[in-house]
Amino acid sequence: MAKTALIVGVSGQDGAYLSRLLLEKGYRVYGTQRRSSRLSAWRLAELGVFDDITILPLDLLETTNIQRVLEATGPDEVYNLGAQSFVALSFEQPIYTGSVDGLGALRLLEALRATGGSARFYQASSSEMFGLAPTAPQDEAVPFHPRSPYAIAKLYAHWTTVNYREAHGMHASSGILFNHESPLRGSEFVTRKITLAFARMRLGRQECVEVGNLDAGRDWGFAGDYVDGMWRMLQQDEPGDYVLATGRVKSVRDFIDEAARCIGMRLEWRGAGAAAQAFDSDTGTPRVRIDPRLRRPADVERLYGNPAKARERLGWEARMSFEELVAMMVEADLARLRDGRVVE
Ligand code: NAP
Repeated sequence: MAKTALIVGVSGQDGAYLSRLLLEKGYRVYGTQRRSSRLSAWRLAELGVFDDITILPLDLLETTNIQRVLEATGPDEVYNLGAQSFVALSFEQPIYTGSVDGLGALRLLEALRATGGSARFYQASSSEMFGLAPTAPQDEAVPFHPRSPYAIAKLYAHWTTVNYREAHGMHASSGILFNHESPLRGSEFVTRKITLAFARMRLGRQECVEVGNLDAGRDWGFAGDYVDGMWRMLQQDEPGDYVLATGRVKSVRDFIDEAARCIGMRLEWRGAGAAAQAFDSDTGTPRVRIDPRLRRPADVERLYGNPAKARERLGWEARMSFEELVAMMVEADLARLRDGRVVE
């Protein structure tokens, strides 16, 4: 019989890729979305899966709502992707972020426990939990030192997942995912902000882009690869915690250089620190500036993961290269702009 999956936060980047993967595997897919003035379905529509899943309203702030959705759907697998996922905003909305990202996972796990707890559970944990990590690359054994309200909330949810596994015997797994991007990434995130900006520059619709920290180093993979790792975690006999990462680190500056290369532009960097700027080497036009207001109050300088456990136990690996990823994002943004499609 076909399995049933419930994806909390289906309207986000990972929700769309995971929906497509599970549908391909023959699952019946329910997805949840918060009530808002409009249904944010553009990602599901872009992947052509909107009509194949059933969307139900659910807010991670509302326990009884969660209980009713679990009763109505009777899932075999629950993927908790729901979150206020923008780190910078979590400094402005720390209490809200804590309630959705931290307590939200607890509400969901507690509601699942009340149903008998037989559904398998995936928690979307984050490499941001490592924060000021004492060693690199980071694997499952490296101690956490979160540096933002987002990371602290995610850590609460991570330990809650571990606790429900240990205390109640639930099949609850935590995926500690390093950054993963795609053309479906929200345009507030630095990667997508960059690819959209360079696509606009290519069409003469934007001159310059502002970023906060050029030197921040991250381990960027492709979201489509990462949702496969989530699914693999829930197919194991035993639940566990797994790092998903590419194992390579690139800076925001590297990402910018690659995006520029994709549109045939060569950048010349001048100045250092907050005064660093990049110019179009052919025209001298300023293309990248630092805006100190975009810096986080406490930043994480460099994170990259060691996915050895996932490789050995799940047979998982990140397949797409950094260069392919940036090119895919720039090309998708160019195509959207040329077609006059909404760019979110
Ligand atoms: P995303 O695009 O921001 O999607 C987040 C989803 O959560 C959206 O569907 C959003 O719905 C939903 N949501 C927000 N507040 C909610 C609430 N109160 N109740 C229920 N749902 C709510 O994030 P993503 O990139 O797909 O990431 C998926 C998950 O993985 C997130 O938990 C994120 O924190 C985590 N993660 C992501 C990365 C990454 O690099 N992408 C890395 C590590 C961990 P709306 O459409 O209504 O806003």
